[in-house]
Amino acid sequence: MAQVKYCLHCGHELSTRNINGRDYPACPVQNCEYVFWDNPLPIVAALIEYQGNVLLARNKSWPPKFFGLITGFLEKGESPENAVIREVKEELDLNAKVEGMIGVYPFPEQNQVIIAYYVSAEGEVKMGEELAEVKAVAPEKVRPWPFGTGHAVKDWLDKRSHH
Ligand SMILES: [Zn+2]
Repeated sequence: MAQVKYCLHCGHELSTRNINGRDYPACPVQNCEYVFWDNPLPIVAALIEYQGNVLLARNKSWPPKFFGLITGFLEKGESPENAVIREVKEELDLNAKVEGMIGVYPFPEQNQVIIAYYVSAEGEVKMGEELAEVKAVAPEKVRPWPFGTGHAVKDWLDKRSHH
């Protein structure tokens, strides 16, 4: 959880204000009354199909055996579709095409909302700075993890097995 101690508008120390039954850091200064809502941030995620396999990546900051989808924040003014294409380019140097949306998933542990897309990609994999490892896994061998982007992986696999 982000800790904000001072008002982002006037610099006064924040106190706690109860609004609709929840406590928020809020500015006590009259005519400012800034509230730090700490709203969840949207992130985009890409389930990438590449040469018949699904690409899973491990961030440098993740535990050794954990692989996930490519994810990233949206830039100001950017559409989610463009953001997901940009992230795939930045992190894997692949040219992605959005094939469809998988779904939108709350990720309260990270205070995020995941917008997950199914994309196809072409080119040659070249890892960006954030990644430690990439692996290509046959779709039928992908095992979804029970949090975050794992829900999108599960929904994609379920849909796929019904076709
Ligand atoms: Zn203030």
